[in-house]
Amino acid sequence: MSDCIFCKIIEGEIPSYTIYEDLEFKVILDAFPSGKGHTLILPKKHIENVFDIDDELLSKAHQLAKKVAKAVKDHLGCEGVNILQNNGSCAGQTVFHYHIHIIPRNTDDGMRFGWKTKEMSKEIFEAIKGGIGSHLY
Ligand code: AMP
Ligand code: ZN
Repeated sequence: MSDCIFCKIIEGEIPSYTIYEDLEFKVILDAFPSGKGHTLILPKKHIENVFDIDDELLSKAHQLAKKVAKAVKDHLGCEGVNILQNNGSCAGQTVFHYHIHIIPRNTDDGMRFGWKTKEMSKEIFEAIKGGIGSHLY
């Protein structure tokens, strides 16, 4: 896609710190990182988000995310990682080319991924459970 920054990175038109590359993926360091080792997994094909990616490529992306997470953890010696993937601007997606974040984490690193918990009645739990569930069969 001509105006997509990640497509330009994949094509080599924009420089990146590339960690790994194969026929279907490029793995780069995030240019505006949460810290050392914040990594992005990019499929080479332009796909906007999880709603559009095909199952086989999605599986491969997550298998690669697992490998990269292990490499990041082994190299940095961080205690854990967040594997994060945003879909839609409302959900924090700013680059509309599917990607997975690997974010190194340590106890008391000051990072926060949070939400305010909401009161939820039994009736709403039941209705939502049935409603979402009905889309899965
Ligand atoms: P998201 O908010 O999930 O869409 O994540 C997009 C990520 O892309 C952000 O973490 C940005 O810091 C990162 N980013 C934006 N431009 C570049 C770039 N030129 N090279 C590497 N990472 C970038
Ligand atoms: Zn793209």
